Amino acid sequence: MTYVIPEIGVSYDLEYYEKYKAGIRVTFSPNDRKFNVKADSRIPQKKVHEFMMSKAPLFEKWLNKRDERTPITLPSDSRSPAFKKKLLDRCEELLKYYDGPRASQYKVSYSKSYWGRCTNEHVISISAYCSYLTDDQLFYVLVHEHAHLIHMHHKPAFWNLVELYCPNYKNLRSELKGYTLN
Ligand SMILES: [Zn+2]
Repeated sequence: MTYVIPEIGVSYDLEYYEKYKAGIRVTFSPNDRKFNVKADSRIPQKKVHEFMMSKAPLFEKWLNKRDERTPITLPSDSRSPAFKKKLLDRCEELLKYYDGPRASQYKVSYSKSYWGRCTNEHVISISAYCSYLTDDQLFYVLVHEHAHLIHMHHKPAFWNLVELYCPNYKNLRSELKGYTLN
């Protein structure tokens, strides 16, 4: 069944399960702005609805967060050697402020799922989408990937190293989360 939370103008699908241990579980599918609710069959529908209404301010926050994201798209020449060279030259310029170990090779990638990537073979790929980033943001991506040359994980030792070069990395990270790559 589909129900509506009028205050925030969204609907949710409710599915009942026998002996559902979580009680009530809410998931959100951003693309169709719809909530999916799974609930234990012993919880009356009225109770589920009350629960959903009480969470309206939180759900509104989720929705706004998504709407506030800035979509970025690549220019038509992004596959050209000139575009790649310009981006890698810019990285090289910023890496003057970094004196740790360097990658064996630098590449430009077209993935929408990461800003940068570092392989076990110490190849660092920088997403073409990084061309939209500010110098500070791009420097953070570079420091992050270079820190993976030393630590292949995201444990505290990794973040301590990132912080050494990027004291405001937490802000930069959240700025990057404000974009969607299209
Ligand atoms: Zn990482």
